[in-house]
Amino acid sequence: MPVIEANDPSLQSWAEVPADSDFPIQNLPLGIFSTADRSARVGTRIGDRVVDLAVLADAGLLNGLDIDLACYKSCVLNSLMRHGKQGTRRLRARLSHLLHADNPELRDNPDLRTQALVSADHVIMHLPVNVGDYTDFYSSREHATNVGTMFRDPKNALLPNWLHLPVGYHGRASSIIPSGQPVHRPMGQTRPDPEAPPVFGPSRRLDFELEMAFITYSGKPLGERISLDEAEEHIFGLVLFNDWSARDMQTWEYVPLGPFLAKNFASSISTWVVTLDALEPFRTSGPAQDPTPLPYLHQEAPHNFDIDLEVAIAPEHAGETVVCRSNTKYLYWSMAQQLAHHTVNGCNIRSGDMMASGTISGPEASSYGSMLELAWKGTKPLKMSDGSDRSFIQDGDTVVMRGHAQKDGVRVGFGEVRAKVLPPHA
Ligand code: CA
Repeated sequence: MPVIEANDPSLQSWAEVPADSDFPIQNLPLGIFSTADRSARVGTRIGDRVVDLAVLADAGLLNGLDIDLACYKSCVLNSLMRHGKQGTRRLRARLSHLLHADNPELRDNPDLRTQALVSADHVIMHLPVNVGDYTDFYSSREHATNVGTMFRDPKNALLPNWLHLPVGYHGRASSIIPSGQPVHRPMGQTRPDPEAPPVFGPSRRLDFELEMAFITYSGKPLGERISLDEAEEHIFGLVLFNDWSARDMQTWEYVPLGPFLAKNFASSISTWVVTLDALEPFRTSGPAQDPTPLPYLHQEAPHNFDIDLEVAIAPEHAGETVVCRSNTKYLYWSMAQQLAHHTVNGCNIRSGDMMASGTISGPEASSYGSMLELAWKGTKPLKMSDGSDRSFIQDGDTVVMRGHAQKDGVRVGFGEVRAKVLPPHA
């Protein structure tokens, strides 16, 4: 892996970065923001400030990167990402240099600095990319085992294919929404009594799924494969991903073609894309894979990442209760394996495609990444801060997911993905 100077733990910025911030100079994620008087455009984040890259580009501070300046004024990152990993790596290196404590270019230009750095409290964050296609994997062995134990046979919880390929399905891109946007409880068909006909009404088993999603650069032409060793060159960065799920609708509808309306009414994402480059220091090995995967999925180098995750629920008018602490390192199938598998048949990927990991459950009961598992199908309700019980998510609840990696005194994080659940539309 390349040594990336922007990851040096000793780097300090002239911009203030609170000690517990997810956004030190070693992170420099990319996102899309607007303000009361600025249209949606590209920004990065340092501490509690959003840096306006359109302003920096207009001032000539992003010249020489071989990136079309119009990209910074776009309302999505797709055109910037078409410059590939080398392009976004050059941009991150330049931003690291501009924000470095010793660099006077922006530091000692108070007018430009004031214009370029906006308080994060004063911006609206948008979807970072136009998502062309969304794929949902099922890559946590613990999650697949828990679900298989609950709904099938505990002795044969994993289906025969699971240890041989990263199971996935094609999801729905149009309903991916940014953090902060509320989610309406879906209406649909369920069959609560297996002896009686199905009924129509609001889902009574609304759940979250704690996932991470990676966003791709352009891939290869239709018909060509991306090998495992090439895969990470096509991965731009990651976001937190809450894949909302209506378990009662899912149970009734999923046979034989898989998830449909139980999963496609909303998926919430965090809005800062943390680049794979910024996560390089947190690379780690995943679980041992036995049986050894087929050669096209065989990986020697570490392809997992050590990112702490948590989920909290805040009932209406009450404080948060953390219900889950997990970590992306538990994923059995790595992102590189997911992408190699996705393209092994010649399926093409495009700039801005989003691929979610599947629910990330760890080995402990407190690390399960969904209410289905945490409350074990409703048999072990969780206690909230206001004394109420939860087996699934209720109207008025806000679900918050957070994630960060930490090493050598540097904390690189994602901020949060937050959404409040509202009653169904009338
Ligand atoms: Ca999912």
